[in-house]
Amino acid sequence: MDYLKELNKSQHEAVVETNGPALIIAGAGSGKTRVLTYRIAHLLNQGARPSAILALTFTNKAAREMKERISEIVGENTARYLWMGTFHSIFLRMLRAEHEVIGYPSNFTIYDASDSRSLIKTIIKGFQLDDKTYKPGVVSSRISMAKNNLITPQAYAQNSEVRLADKSMRMPAIAEIYKEYAKRCFLSGAMDFDDLLLKTNLLFRDRPEILEKYQQRFTHILVDEYQDTNYAQYLIIKKLAVHHKNICVVGDDAQSIYSFRGARIENILNFQKDYPSHKIFKLEQNYRSTQTIVNAANSIIAKNKRQIPKTVFSEKDRGNNIKVISALTDNEEGFLVAQEIAQTQLRDHYRNLDYAILYRTNAQSRIFEEALRKRNIPYKIYGGLSFYQRKEIKDLLAYFRLIINPWDNEALKRIINYPARGIGQTTLAKLETAAVNAEVSIWKMISGMPENNPMNLNKGIIAKVLKFRGLIQGFAKIAIENDAFDTAKTIAEETGILKELYSDKSTEGLSRHDNIQELLNGIQEFTLNAKEEGRPDKLENFLEDVALLTDQDTDKDEDKDKVTLMTVHSAKGLEFKNVFVVGLEDNLFPSAQASEKKSAEALEEERRLFYVALTRARENAWLSYASQRYKWGKLDFGSPSRFLIEMDEQYLDGDEIGGSTSASQNPFQQQQVPGNRQITGSKRQPVTPGIRRSTDFVSRKLIEARKANQPGTGFESDDPNKIMQGMTVEHQRFGEGKVLKIEGVPPNKKATVFFKNAGQKQLLLKFAKLKIK
Ligand code: ATP
Ligand code: MG
Repeated sequence: MDYLKELNKSQHEAVVETNGPALIIAGAGSGKTRVLTYRIAHLLNQGARPSAILALTFTNKAAREMKERISEIVGENTARYLWMGTFHSIFLRMLRAEHEVIGYPSNFTIYDASDSRSLIKTIIKGFQLDDKTYKPGVVSSRISMAKNNLITPQAYAQNSEVRLADKSMRMPAIAEIYKEYAKRCFLSGAMDFDDLLLKTNLLFRDRPEILEKYQQRFTHILVDEYQDTNYAQYLIIKKLAVHHKNICVVGDDAQSIYSFRGARIENILNFQKDYPSHKIFKLEQNYRSTQTIVNAANSIIAKNKRQIPKTVFSEKDRGNNIKVISALTDNEEGFLVAQEIAQTQLRDHYRNLDYAILYRTNAQSRIFEEALRKRNIPYKIYGGLSFYQRKEIKDLLAYFRLIINPWDNEALKRIINYPARGIGQTTLAKLETAAVNAEVSIWKMISGMPENNPMNLNKGIIAKVLKFRGLIQGFAKIAIENDAFDTAKTIAEETGILKELYSDKSTEGLSRHDNIQELLNGIQEFTLNAKEEGRPDKLENFLEDVALLTDQDTDKDEDKDKVTLMTVHSAKGLEFKNVFVVGLEDNLFPSAQASEKKSAEALEEERRLFYVALTRARENAWLSYASQRYKWGKLDFGSPSRFLIEMDEQYLDGDEIGGSTSASQNPFQQQQVPGNRQITGSKRQPVTPGIRRSTDFVSRKLIEARKANQPGTGFESDDPNKIMQGMTVEHQRFGEGKVLKIEGVPPNKKATVFFKNAGQKQLLLKFAKLKIK
């Protein structure tokens, strides 16, 4: 198969020039990932050994897709030996292989964010610190930041800069917490996500002969989404590439969106310094999106000061303008988006999987879920409280974890009394204290019983604890002898978990039971696939897959025809025919922190995030905002996002959805009136009062509002800055009214006006078209 034919000239060059360091910096949708994929295929075709190629992706899903494509070109039997995966999965594999050197058991556990959080909480409590000052979330991100910058607990304690920062945040004890946290993880035979990178770095630092082995092994290293690597990742790659120097990194500085997790744009600049002989490849043609989408995205990102200049153009159709949906409330936003999906599906025969709804924060998903459910539109959510984070699932997984690695304290604490077996909190606390004092895991304490009983447990309790020990040991044996599915099923049954959930006939109880069944189905699938492909099929192998899931990987039913709901962050690298970017209000997107203009850098990152969101769309994009939204249980009034205002208006259209109410309620009728959606401001039909429409707040249509500020639209308005409290004004639709209050600063200056015929309204002055009477 001639895969080189599927590349344009610059892509072709970037694929075939495989020697030496290469930097491919190019805009969204220009084929960076494609080039990386084909470059690997090309290397293999030229005789490179698959096991000598290391390819790092941002998600497991991306790695899977790349591997599939490469398999199609070079055959599965070659592709399967590639070292291809996320940083975490690849370096986990390496650390397992080298576990003895770093003093960990081979089956060490991976603590997920909630395990870490719970351990940090325990430590804060144990130190008798106030958890209002020492918020576990903040402490955990300080520790994570330290790890990603390769600051060990010892170095942290001596680093005056971080100590000073902690002091100014009134958390001088973080160094102590970090130290204790690291110690307890070690005693539990556990690593958190950041450890995977930190320990790899330490391993390479302390054991040059091991580093040397991998330096020799990997003749070619390739990294996708390089703009989002952090320092720890940067250093690993740098060290590994020393020998062969065949390193190819691919990225787009305009899509760097993970600085909060320690990603550094500087890594791109460092690359140029580290490899003075590097070649730079530029890809300029976007193959993903219509011209309108590409140009609109360019018009936004141009506002960022910090960026590497580059051209991105599309030769696809001009395409439709981007539609702005202005909603009165967040609920209405959900309603309108779902309606738009239903209507465009009928008109243009899109499938559900052609749509994505992208939001800034996970909490926004609920509104869209409800709206889609009401219309019976199937959807899937990525991230948030994923399947594997549900209580019942975590409980069963904790059994699995403990069986594989009995030192795992967090797993043990979760299930030592679940289902209830009479081992209460007091007993557990005694066991834990004794373990901490003896510097061993809780399991080790339990193993020494009954002879070793420093916590003076009574006979009855000891018997219960020993019974629990026996149960786990029994399972551990089963796990060695059986495949993942048989082991999991036995555990679910013999622990009594299945029975307990089954006997709970409440809706919640039933759904928990179903979830466990679903987990077992998943394990069965894993086991069957593993057998078929000749991979190990034990429970520990299944557990490994689960531990490394990223936000993008939580889709259990990937193939199904469903609308995708995800945060913009997890949409990176993906593409959909139709994309809704929702919640475009200042203080939400851009986030409150960035909106407050405290940091120009934070605002630029939000702008890059918006650029990522918009450039996911292939054919159509919608931008929506709501004027009122519930935040933390309180009604909040928002203004349209500055990104809406910044965007070159030639690419925007107002929303026409439901402009005529009867037609909008009836999709079939709507379908028979295709011209209906083309109505522009002047042709729009009058809106009937009382209908769920967004006409009476801020501005129903941003585009209309923008026009209001331009002369010659028929209704001459006055300079918004001249409008003062107490004035009588006239509004084109609401008629005469009195200005009660003026708030805010331009461009977000708002007026509260009481209209004789329309009642009290809050208006964004810039858009409100007011005439002074
Ligand atoms: P992002 O910045 O979003 O990660 P990217 O630069 O990695 O984007 P790809 O995902 O590789 O871009 O490509 C975008 C789309 O364009 C894909 O659907 C890809 O198949 C298609 N594409 C890339 N190059 C070509 C080409 N030469 N001919 C046809 N289609 C192409
Ligand atoms: Mg890509």
